[in-house]
Amino acid sequence: MHISTSASLLAYNTFGIDAVADYLVSYQSVEELQHFLKSELAQTEPLLAVGAGSNLLFLNSFKGVVLTSDIKTIRQIESDSDDNAVLVEAGAGVVWNDFVRYCVNHHFFGVENLAYIPGTVGASAIQNIGAYGVEAKEVIHTVHAVEVATGKVCTLFADELDYGYRTSKFKKEWKNRYIITSVVYKLTTNAVVNLDYKELRERIAPQIEDLKQHPKELLHTIFNTVVSIRKEKLPEPHEWGNGGSFFLNPVVEKTFFETLQAAFPTIPHYPLPHNKVKIPAAWLIEQCGWKGKTVGKAGCYEKQPLVLINCGGATGADIAALAEAIVKEVQATFHITLIPEVSYIS
Ligand code: NAP
Repeated sequence: MHISTSASLLAYNTFGIDAVADYLVSYQSVEELQHFLKSELAQTEPLLAVGAGSNLLFLNSFKGVVLTSDIKTIRQIESDSDDNAVLVEAGAGVVWNDFVRYCVNHHFFGVENLAYIPGTVGASAIQNIGAYGVEAKEVIHTVHAVEVATGKVCTLFADELDYGYRTSKFKKEWKNRYIITSVVYKLTTNAVVNLDYKELRERIAPQIEDLKQHPKELLHTIFNTVVSIRKEKLPEPHEWGNGGSFFLNPVVEKTFFETLQAAFPTIPHYPLPHNKVKIPAAWLIEQCGWKGKTVGKAGCYEKQPLVLINCGGATGADIAALAEAIVKEVQATFHITLIPEVSYIS
C-alpha cells in the first residue's frame, strides 16, 4: 500500500484538471484494501475510489482520500459450461483497453466493440460503458467488491446491479457502499458480432464475406476498426484533456419527439422500446452552434461536440461553466435538458 499526502490528481483524471487530494492511497491486493479500510484515516475522511478518472470532473481540490487500485491481473477461470463460454476475471485497476486486447488476442468475442474506451475495468462495472451497440452489462458475469463499512469481501451478480444506460446500482443506492476489486466477464469463443452501427458496418462491409470464413480475423478487424474510428473522432486525453462523452444521449417520449420532428425534420433519432426515442446529444449541441467553440480555456471538440475539452490550464469550474451554457441553449432551442454523463466531484 502506498499513501501520499497533498497529492496531485493530474494523473488520475483525463480532463487534466490540476486538483489536489489530501491523501492518495493505492493498494495492490484485496487484503491491503481491507487493511486500509480498518485504519483511522478511512474512518475519519471521505473516500473516493478512482480508476483512470475518465469520467470525473474535479471542481475543487478533494478534501479526503482518493483510493486507486493497483490490482492488475487478468486470468481465465475454469468453467464447466459447454456453450463455448469463457469466464475471464480482471482486476479493477486493469486499463480497459488492455483487457479488450487480451480478449481479442485470446479470440474471445464480446468486448471488441468497446475497444479504446478510456478507463479501467472497475469503472466499466460502475458505469456500464457502451459503444457501437454493445454495453458492458451484456458480458459482466459477477463483480467482486469490498464493502466499505465492514471490510467484507462480496460477490455481486450482474442481475442484481440494475444496469441501465451508463448507470448501475453503484451510481445510485449503492453509491460509496462498495469498492470493486475485480470483475468477471462472460465471453464466448463463438463468432457472435454486433455490426448494427452504420459507421462500423460500412468500414467492415467490403471484407465481410471473407472475414465470416475467418472469425479470428473478423475479431481483430472489428477491434482495429473501432480503435481507428475512435482515434479519428475523439481527442487523446494527453493532447486535449477530456472525459469522453460529456452528456448522455437524451431519451424522450415518442409523442414529444414527433412534435420536435415537425419543427426539425432532419433530426436524427433511434426508436427504443416502450414508445421512447433516443436523440444524439451531439446533433443537438452542433445545431446550437457549439461545435468547435471555446469559452476561455474550455472547448467543445471540433470533430465531436459531445466531448468537452480542456484547451490548456482549464479548471473544473471552466468546463462546468461551458457545460452549463450548452445545457441552457439546448434547453431553449429543443426543450430537452441534457444530463451530464461525467460525474462532478466537489
Ligand atoms: P454516431 O455513430 O455518430 O451516432 C450518434 C449517436 O447515435 C450515438 O451516440 C449512438 O448512441 C446513436 N446511434 C448510432 N447508431 C445507432 C444504432 N444503430 N442504434 C442505436 N443508436 C445508434 O456516434 P459516435 O459519437 O461516433 O459514437 C459511436 C459510439 O461510441 C456510440 O455508441 C457512443 O456511445 C460511443 N462513444 C462512447 C464514448 C464514451 O465516452 N463512453 C465516447 C464517444 C463515443 P449511443 O451513444 O447510445 O450508442
